[in-house]
Amino acid sequence: MAHQKAPQTPRRWARWTRWAVLSVVLAGMTLLGYLHQELAVDKPAGVDALCPFGGLETLFSLVTTGAMLKKVAVASVILLVATVAMALLARRSFCGRVCPLGFLQELMGGLGHRVLRGRRTMPAALDRPARLLKYAVLAGFIGLAWATADLAIRPYDPWVAWQHLTSADLITDFAPGLAVLGVALAGSFVYDRFFCKYLCPMGAFLGLFSKASLFRVTRTTANCIDCRACDKACPMNVTVSAVQKVDSPECISCGECVTACPVKDTLAFAGPGSRRVSPVVAAAGLAAGFALIVGATTLSGHFDWTAPSFAQSVAETAPAPDGSFDVGLIKGSSVLAEVMDAAGIPPETVEQVFGVPVAEQDRPIKDIKSVYGFSPEDVRTFVEIYRQDPEAAAAFVPAGE
Ligand code: SF4
Ligand code: SF4
Repeated sequence: MAHQKAPQTPRRWARWTRWAVLSVVLAGMTLLGYLHQELAVDKPAGVDALCPFGGLETLFSLVTTGAMLKKVAVASVILLVATVAMALLARRSFCGRVCPLGFLQELMGGLGHRVLRGRRTMPAALDRPARLLKYAVLAGFIGLAWATADLAIRPYDPWVAWQHLTSADLITDFAPGLAVLGVALAGSFVYDRFFCKYLCPMGAFLGLFSKASLFRVTRTTANCIDCRACDKACPMNVTVSAVQKVDSPECISCGECVTACPVKDTLAFAGPGSRRVSPVVAAAGLAAGFALIVGATTLSGHFDWTAPSFAQSVAETAPAPDGSFDVGLIKGSSVLAEVMDAAGIPPETVEQVFGVPVAEQDRPIKDIKSVYGFSPEDVRTFVEIYRQDPEAAAAFVPAGE
């Protein structure tokens, strides 16, 4: 039987569409992270408020107490809903078509292919058990977050580290995450999407929806010439040529196998009733669906791209009846005057204890702490002492950084 060649143009468009979306997300999120570090006021939301995994970590607290974990925002929950919607439609398509950390790994993988002359595959005896690691990471960090009501993964999160690359606190606060980022990128240089395959808890979570997913890569066996181009193209090492339908929870719906197949009408995304979707429509449709959810909730005012001020954070976390707030809310980015105002501490006392002139107190703590020799922890301790005994607080001596 003669086989027709698959048309090139739609395949090229499908690839470029996916790469364009991933590039925009990676560049946009990196810029937001940089601006979050650099701007003192009107800055973008922090990385924790713009990550679907934060939405998953806060779920237990949200359901049982109605409150979010610190640093998490409604936007994180919206992103979680959007990623689950994508998973129900096309498996781990968030990983393959939106996730900026996934794309960073793809860029490293591309470099690795050039330098190492081709794609490497982890030996099966190691690969199989290693793929289970991500489920343990998922269970461990979600269990910890739900038990401690804190963002347990934050210090170890490679994406959080990436978003703090320009932060003065990178080494002190994010060293474990930076190490994991190094492992993810170095690993991806040799083995495609190393972190996605072996360690990512979000990927493990989204993989759980694979069986319920509406669309999946489907192979028409009668047309297949068994060239195995699909297997070679798959960054997740799924053996596409051995199955009629790709059901693996490892599939990130990137469509690379579909665009690599040289025979017309052989590989395609297919949904209910075996309805086939062109690779371009799949690429554009999935990105548009995600953008629609984020866009609509931004317009409705639920998705907030800006970081709350210290006063807003205090109001959102419901201070105690006496007006006292959780000192854990005091961060390096908090404006000193806002903190002291919320605690009812006169600016003159602040000047006396920290040496910061009143005119300088309207600056974020991180911008003046090294000039005047104190740390955010000093400010937290001082506020707690002042609540107990204002006179004793006046004699407080900051320990410095
Ligand atoms: S099976 Fe195809 S769509 Fe799934 S990850 Fe592999 S290349 Fe991407
Ligand atoms: S790429 Fe895969 S599905 Fe397409 S003809 Fe080759 S083996 Fe068959």
